Amino acid sequence: MTSFLPASFFEQLRTLVGHDHVHTEGDLSLWEQDWRGLAQGKALAVVSPASTSEVAAVVKLCAEAKAQGAAISIVPQGGNTGLVLGSIPDGSGTQVVLSLRRMQTIRGIDPHNLSMTVDAGCILQNLQEAAKSAGLLFPLSLAAQGSCVIGGNLATNAGGTQVVRYGNARELCIGLEVVLADGRIWNGLSGLRKDNTGYDLRNLIIGSEGTLGIITGATLKLYPQPAARACAWLATPSLHHAVELLALSQKHLASGLTGFEAMEQAALQLVEKHMPQLRMPIAPTTAEVFVLLEYSDDESETRAQSRLESLLEAAFEAGVLTDGAVAQSLDQSQRMWDIREHIPLAQAQEGVHLKHDISVTSSSIPAFVERAKAQLQESHPDARVINFGHLGDGNLHFNVQAPLGADPKAFVKELAQPIQAIIYDTVAFFGGSFSAEHGVGTLKPAELLHYKDPVALSLMRSIKQALDPHSLLNPNAVLPPAADAQAGE
Ligand code: FAD
Repeated sequence: MTSFLPASFFEQLRTLVGHDHVHTEGDLSLWEQDWRGLAQGKALAVVSPASTSEVAAVVKLCAEAKAQGAAISIVPQGGNTGLVLGSIPDGSGTQVVLSLRRMQTIRGIDPHNLSMTVDAGCILQNLQEAAKSAGLLFPLSLAAQGSCVIGGNLATNAGGTQVVRYGNARELCIGLEVVLADGRIWNGLSGLRKDNTGYDLRNLIIGSEGTLGIITGATLKLYPQPAARACAWLATPSLHHAVELLALSQKHLASGLTGFEAMEQAALQLVEKHMPQLRMPIAPTTAEVFVLLEYSDDESETRAQSRLESLLEAAFEAGVLTDGAVAQSLDQSQRMWDIREHIPLAQAQEGVHLKHDISVTSSSIPAFVERAKAQLQESHPDARVINFGHLGDGNLHFNVQAPLGADPKAFVKELAQPIQAIIYDTVAFFGGSFSAEHGVGTLKPAELLHYKDPVALSLMRSIKQALDPHSLLNPNAVLPPAADAQAGE
């Protein structure tokens, strides 16, 4: 439905961003379908501006059309790798997908301020490489880094594999440029590390998933490149031991601990089954839980190896390790990371599964997993838990694979909801979060309404109303009015 859309609307869009950068027909699945292929919407148009002023002009045009009664809204889109259906249009044909992917300029690197200012459409991996070319490090790192873009990373407050040392995307951002729902541009690209002049607008926009403003530029923190990195693949008897190992690693390696990923045996067995070319450093059958630990040293390769080895000695002595392999080269380290990063792919190849991106405090992880597994076992004994994740951040991907031979459609239709309720209720029991790093999108508003503190929900509604009173920006995501209405029924 495009009621009251001015006849000249598409022509005006083309005038603003160029004829070739407005798509209304043909195969638009690149923008309309999510990365996992779970859903495909129908866009009113896909518009790709090349600059902040073009983004502002497009938003203004859409806002005016909406004010004249048109059913129209905007879905900002970066690399479209999000996992909660926040970046694709719904099926109504009334949503403009505003793609930031043409905005790829690195505006500047300031080595004295240890920062770089970039367009929102810069691909994450390109930013890592640009920082590296300047002898510096941009530490945000995730498996989708070749496709996702920094605007999307900030809009979702992405986490990834280096959070234990450098924090989430939010902690890496010291300036933001945002186009607001009425088309105004807020220039907050200060690059300041200290600025206590009122409310923190930057941190409000970060993590808002395109519902409060469209990020067009960002100033990012950089760090010195470590002199050396060392990785180890470690076998532990249980998650309890893995948590003990985390505490020991933090004590021995302090801020040099840059990665701490845990993988249960079943997750690695799936990788072994579907990617036999990825050779395991230690056979998965020999332990319940494996840890991929990364240490970064500011001085030298030799010191990196010796500090890692002394940690391992202490860990063996404390009885938290049963086996370990230290990578002898960058290539070997990369192979360890490859195994970790192939778990989601192995799950996809195994068949239908349910993803749960949860967090609890690291110390609660063993008790959480024990309780959630026991409850699943009781009600769904055939469901297979594939548990892995960023243990150093208390973030698990506590996924559930359909039983072997199960009908995938029936599994999702009949069991997704009850299995999810068991897991999220257990998360809530431990005071955790049902979405640690992927966000809410249009997939999890019902969970938000169910599990979030009511006062927090009411504050969130007030903020949305203040910044986007006509619900122009990503109206179906995070806290859609429709979800409220449904919950009230
Ligand atoms: P998109 O998917 O395009 O958009 C995501 C959300 O942000 C949408 O709501 C969209 O409307 C909004 N948005 C996009 N750009 C803007 C903008 N400029 N302004 C305002 N709103 C905007 N996530 C993690 O946190 N940690 C991981 O380890 C991780 N691993 C992943 C591994 C794989 C293989 C895949 C496919 C995904 C993974 N993700 C992970 C999820 C995803 O990559 C991240 O959420 C990423 O930050 C999304 O970036 P994007 O550019 O693809 O954003």
